[in-house]
Amino acid sequence: MATPYLGRFAPSPTGPLHAGSLVAALASWLDARAHGGQWLVRIEDVDSTRCQRGMDQTLLRQLAALNLHSDGPPVYQSQRTPLYQQALDQLIAGGHAYLCGCSRRDIELALQHSGQPKPRHGERVYPGTCRHGLHGRGARAWRFNTQAQPRLHWQDRRLGEQAQDVALAVGDFILQRADGCFAYQLAVVVDDAAQGISDVVRGEDLADNTARQILLQRALHLPTPRYLHTPLVLGPHGEKLSKQNGAQALDTEHPLATLNRAAAVLGLAEQHALADALANWVAQWRCLYNLPP
Ligand code: GLU
Repeated sequence: MATPYLGRFAPSPTGPLHAGSLVAALASWLDARAHGGQWLVRIEDVDSTRCQRGMDQTLLRQLAALNLHSDGPPVYQSQRTPLYQQALDQLIAGGHAYLCGCSRRDIELALQHSGQPKPRHGERVYPGTCRHGLHGRGARAWRFNTQAQPRLHWQDRRLGEQAQDVALAVGDFILQRADGCFAYQLAVVVDDAAQGISDVVRGEDLADNTARQILLQRALHLPTPRYLHTPLVLGPHGEKLSKQNGAQALDTEHPLATLNRAAAVLGLAEQHALADALANWVAQWRCLYNLPP
């Protein structure tokens, strides 16, 4: 029997919903409805240092004002740390994780010595210094060992054939930071599986994380959901809109206009009445993604 469709929208409560995050919210909602499935909201507050107090309520209010309601009570990552610890323990037991004692500065120096200047979104590929031991340094973080992992190939429902060699492109990534905070990669994989998420629909800025997440799913013997990454909303200078670069909060006083802007990014036709806008877009979404009526 096919697994039932379960989708999710997983905002981090670091700022209100903006034009870019609404595209991901609307797309994941439409995909769930177009499959006759369910849609859940998960508040990704695993990194408490970045979260704003009360922002979860703001996000839920904004979604509700746009008629996007979660089919179950929202799940909070901050309440799920035992699950992330269990997964980390499993990775350690399986020989997939190792302790790292490197500070940012240690990593910079090691990379300068090895002549590897390649920045990747500001981050550098970890040079593997602690892969075979801490060299007398104190343990700071847990990393995933990508060395023996194959080049991954997967299908994205919008972007098509994708491939990444995580060891080369990203390196041994963090599972738990020096401050004890579990990494997004681990939390998202654990939660998607625990909630039975069949389809991940999210912004294209996150597409690059998919290979890391598939590696973790395999190492933890968890199923891999289908992935669909939505187009990004760019700012006036072609930059990605984000809460960090001051993207404007959404105008929820005019839900139809706000939804129309997000729908246009997804290639959906403008609607003139709020009452049937979402239903019409569900039908259009089915056509766009070849889903049965
Ligand atoms: N919490 C992430 C964000 O707000 C999204 C995670 C995901 O959809 O996988 O960027």
